[in-house]
Amino acid sequence: MILGIDLGGTKSAALVLHEDGTVVRRVVAPTPADAKAEELFAFLVGLAQQVRGAETVVGVGVSAGAPADAAHGLVFAAPNLPGWGSTGFPLAARLSEALALPVKIENDADATALAEWRFGAGQGTRNMAFLTVGTGIGSGLILDGRLHRGRRGAGGEIGHITVVPNGRACSCGLRGCLEAYASGPAVTKIAQEFGWCGELTGRAVVEGARAENAACLAALNQAAELLGQALATLAMLLDLERIVLGTLAVHAADLLLPKIRATLRAHAWPRLTEGLDIVPAALGDQAQDLAALCAWGTS
Ligand SMILES: [Zn+2]
Repeated sequence: MILGIDLGGTKSAALVLHEDGTVVRRVVAPTPADAKAEELFAFLVGLAQQVRGAETVVGVGVSAGAPADAAHGLVFAAPNLPGWGSTGFPLAARLSEALALPVKIENDADATALAEWRFGAGQGTRNMAFLTVGTGIGSGLILDGRLHRGRRGAGGEIGHITVVPNGRACSCGLRGCLEAYASGPAVTKIAQEFGWCGELTGRAVVEGARAENAACLAALNQAAELLGQALATLAMLLDLERIVLGTLAVHAADLLLPKIRATLRAHAWPRLTEGLDIVPAALGDQAQDLAALCAWGTS
């Protein structure tokens, strides 16, 4: 069995699970998001000790909602988890010492990409991209049958490639990033600017679009078009078999996917788009559990 830790910006979970993904036990608690590194560390140790039972656990997988250097077991500050600092906190080594178990860490987008690849919508492929389309847009790439990490494990920032030169300001400091148009909060804000007066949540905007509200439809349409453009770049670069899209693209697959597919095909060569599927993520509520499992299983 594996001990999994899902470290999130608002809540975190620790779980004991089998290697096939069956969860034996789980504890969830609000993350002390503004805490410093040592306090965050103590919180995670507490969660892990709470969930641990009499089972023999072989290792700990951490799916971290923060930039992570898997090779060195480090986590770095994220906008919603600033406490880890900019030089990298040695979370794997410290947890390993505290729990007397080997520990592996992955960034959550990479860990979820692995989970969708092994258990979900990416099964059977050797070249796939996974994109979260939630609060932010992150990605994980499986290339030639393995997770692509890059020089420092920092790649895959497709949410911050420019899709509109000198466009909307992005939280990262750049302008015109995909995330500034197609993340859940961005779509909501743009719908409001287009005249949406309803509730300011991604779900409400999706419901608005289903009820044919023009502002919601326009905001989602723009997001789909820019996602399609960005994915065309990805397809041309990487010659993928499948692109798996999470969160917003799951809740609003009917509204987004036709436009995303059409835009992709308009901006990339047929040779690279024929047989390339764009599909919604399949793991739903299980994604985080399986991401923690895959953080252990494949480093
Ligand atoms: Zn950005």
